[in-house]
Amino acid sequence: MRLLFCLCLCLAATGLHAQASVRTADPAVRGVPLSAFPRFVKLSERVYGYEEIRQPGFTTVSLIVIGRNGVLVADGQGSVQATQTMLDRIKTISPLPVKWYVVGSDHGDHTAGNSVLPEDMQFVVHANSLAQLKKDSAAAVAANRPAVIVPPVAMRSDDEIIDLGGISVRVRFLGRAHTGGDLMVEVPSENLLFMSEAYLNRVFPAMRSAYGAEWVRTINQALALKHVDRFIPGHGFIENANVSREELVAFRDAVIAVIAEVTRLKAAGLTVDQAIAQANWGPYAKWFLAEQQSPIAIRRLWTELDGASK
Ligand SMILES: [Zn+2]
Repeated sequence: MRLLFCLCLCLAATGLHAQASVRTADPAVRGVPLSAFPRFVKLSERVYGYEEIRQPGFTTVSLIVIGRNGVLVADGQGSVQATQTMLDRIKTISPLPVKWYVVGSDHGDHTAGNSVLPEDMQFVVHANSLAQLKKDSAAAVAANRPAVIVPPVAMRSDDEIIDLGGISVRVRFLGRAHTGGDLMVEVPSENLLFMSEAYLNRVFPAMRSAYGAEWVRTINQALALKHVDRFIPGHGFIENANVSREELVAFRDAVIAVIAEVTRLKAAGLTVDQAIAQANWGPYAKWFLAEQQSPIAIRRLWTELDGASK
């Protein structure tokens, strides 16, 4: 204890303490003012993360890769205005057109602005997400809501390489996780993997349409890519390489803990509502969106444990 205290004092004195980022998805706690967003996080000469704030005040992350033949974007933002702003900002880092768009997540907070994407662009989408987007589109038409953009075709395999000119990306489906059609974008030359919503950095595992047990396996597949030293989340902050793997492990452990807690409550013979009232999330109760997302996770996992969510 005493040693720890001294260490802290020492670090504070040398200024190192101030440089270490607080592990949180909350910009205020992290010490980043909301006025700093949207912002690019430069990952290499040709690869950028793009962090934009969405309600209720955490980041939605897109990935931008710049090749000689054009720009690839993985995941958009949650509204026409936010995605347009992103496209405008991309013009400040490359004069080339956006030619590829990877649907990492088919959820609206990543796709609702897709109507402003260039028309001649190529979509890369998993069959599961394409089916979901078709459903969402039909529902939007029926309810007179703004159109949902539906890509023309799904990718043919679970692993596709796209040559952008001077840099290649590998679009990978490592298994179902947060949506069921979760795509990840690996940039092998830069040792990085954009994981979209399969990785929610310090955000309580959001499970409305998730596959809990498979999600853990999918993250383990990502962790097994030993050459990758930077894992980019779909929400939450982009971490530096020195803590990136550690933070992904922390998120996987959160998913495991949530499943374990729901399993425990169910085995105790509680009803779903009793489980919602009695759940003990330990440290994860403090993670972003815990209050909003934990009842949703319980309901979804309840169905999964019943063997109903196929
Ligand atoms: Zn989502």
